[in-house]
Amino acid sequence: MLGKSITNLMQALKQLPAIGPKSAQRMALCLLLEHNHTTAKKIITNLTSAVNNVRQCSCCQMLTEDAVCVICNDPRRDSRCICIVSSPADCIAIEESSIYKGKYFILTANLSPIDGIGPEELGIDNLLIQIENNCVSEIILATSTTPEGEATAYYLSEQLKKYKLNISRLAQGIPRGGELEYIDSDTLAHALDTRKQFI
Ligand SMILES: [Zn+2]
Repeated sequence: MLGKSITNLMQALKQLPAIGPKSAQRMALCLLLEHNHTTAKKIITNLTSAVNNVRQCSCCQMLTEDAVCVICNDPRRDSRCICIVSSPADCIAIEESSIYKGKYFILTANLSPIDGIGPEELGIDNLLIQIENNCVSEIILATSTTPEGEATAYYLSEQLKKYKLNISRLAQGIPRGGELEYIDSDTLAHALDTRKQFI
């Protein structure tokens, strides 16, 4: 009924997190109304610019417009401590708590064999390079507390056993099944402060 262009647009929008078929349809129809064309064109311009200019930091995999991100480039940050998170949004959430002064490694996903996400997709080889090159002594496993996040934390702890590292996991206040990006800064700061030995 709607034609190929609209259907394709709805299919594409549906790939985004938390967007179901109804939301995708609402967004597509809204953007295509003539009085919303200015907004639609602004989105096209900004999205094209972001896709062309944003890449992953070669050290920590955070999104950045430079080869190396601001945090990795900051000499005041403690490079002996790496906090491993599941997504750029989780990194931003921890930064907003202002308590953490080490560096990060962003997995960009959790292990999920059913979705075809294995260790290679997480960039773990890159993590091991960072650990070896920066004389890292502490790892904070801050993956989400969903089953996939817990499985990822366990897998990482097994991979990191061969290094002499102090490995901890975020503590109190993080609800089971929770994504870090939705947790308030105070709770996150407390969870970081009271992190527990993992292995
Ligand atoms: Zn970085």
